[in-house]
Amino acid sequence: MSNILIEANNISKIYDPDILLKRGKNFYALDNVNFVLEKGDFICIMGPSGSGKSTLLNCLSTLDSLSTGHILLKGTDMTTLNKNELCEFRYKTLGFVFQNHNLIPYLNIFDNIATPAILGHINAKELKEKVIHIARDLEIEKILDKFPHECSGGECQRVAIARALINDPEIIFCDEPTGNLDSKNSHKLLSILTKLHQQGTTILLVTHDAMIASYSQTMMYLYDGSIKTVVHRHNGSQLNYYQRINEIVLEDSILKQFTHSTSFEDKEKIDTMKTKHKKSPSYQIVYMYIHGYKYDKDLYQKYTPVMLNDREIIYRNKYNDEIIIDLSSIKEIHLNLKAQFANFGIYSQFTFDVLIDIICHDDIYKFRAKNKDDMIQIIHYFQDLHIPIIDSKKIIETYQQFPKDYERTKYYIRTHKDLMKYGVCDNLNPITNKKM
Ligand code: ADP
Ligand code: MG
Repeated sequence: MSNILIEANNISKIYDPDILLKRGKNFYALDNVNFVLEKGDFICIMGPSGSGKSTLLNCLSTLDSLSTGHILLKGTDMTTLNKNELCEFRYKTLGFVFQNHNLIPYLNIFDNIATPAILGHINAKELKEKVIHIARDLEIEKILDKFPHECSGGECQRVAIARALINDPEIIFCDEPTGNLDSKNSHKLLSILTKLHQQGTTILLVTHDAMIASYSQTMMYLYDGSIKTVVHRHNGSQLNYYQRINEIVLEDSILKQFTHSTSFEDKEKIDTMKTKHKKSPSYQIVYMYIHGYKYDKDLYQKYTPVMLNDREIIYRNKYNDEIIIDLSSIKEIHLNLKAQFANFGIYSQFTFDVLIDIICHDDIYKFRAKNKDDMIQIIHYFQDLHIPIIDSKKIIETYQQFPKDYERTKYYIRTHKDLMKYGVCDNLNPITNKKM
């Protein structure tokens, strides 16, 4: 099973849809961000104020909606889930810790911690034991009868963590949780998070403090709504990692100060800090286009553009690394289809994406292609290069015969198998079960 918990493909966020009309220019709080959160990750997001950190966290945690792009929650497209399903996902999987703890003032600490468990219908005795157990771990068991205004900032923040933990979440989202704490309490909170991480909890933490960030394994630096730099700690020391994070923050603030005089070298310096990911590939939704041919601007902006020219294939992977595949290193191409059932009531339908695995001598690159109409052109491109194409499902043949059926215009259920025996197959109305 895949370890990917949350996967964001080319997500963008515009808060005010009328901004283009008002100011003549779109304002992206998030601009084409790709992001993968895997089981056991401890990722930290940094960036100047207003760079989109909270927006990213809110979008990834399903609290806010996207303008464009897709988020897959454990492989399921978020847009296919209804409100109840989203609520259940949040309840079962996520825990939240906010900057200003957001405790409910008229509930005592015990009730504040217990609140998220109400949905779970666990019995009162069990709940009480659980609250006390967590409170003991976080050293707040003595204040369970108090109200938030009677507790210190550090205590309230630990209560907020206890509340986030009550449902045993797989992922904890923290948005500047140490923003209002002194350094002693910040470190206490960090050591709690580190312990949770060691016990298997996945953590996504927003902070502006390099010291805090140095507790993570990966730091992503946001700037103007895009991920500009990614740094991994790997097996290095926390001190080294901290120094690298500090360098990036410092470079960025210098960069901002001299925005107008930024030289090319400065930008390049930051680019070179990007580190290559060695993680196993998962499918990336892309728009492929051949250099020199006409391309679809909308798709180009919406999905990761992959450029094919006569020497190489170039794109940015989900971790924002630039990937160049030398054509001579490609052994063969595997084609496959992903059929997804989109439930729109009477308009329910299967939609198809073409899966393309580029098998190289020492690597595999996996794509989900969005440009169905250009697909044949892309396939010709590989054929012209004499790269073997393994197409066991006869996708090329079927597509050439019935290109329209891969589009989302058919209001009846039809699978790829049906398409292949097109003449024979009945098109049944899903409601009446009668032939159409
Ligand atoms: P950060 O957390 O990095 O400080 P945010 O994600 O809060 O940044 O904000 C990113 C940008 O989006 C900012 O320019 C901010 O003004 C804008 N923004 C945030 N929330 C809203 C909102 N609810 N409505 C309109 N604009 C918003
Ligand atoms: Mg914020």
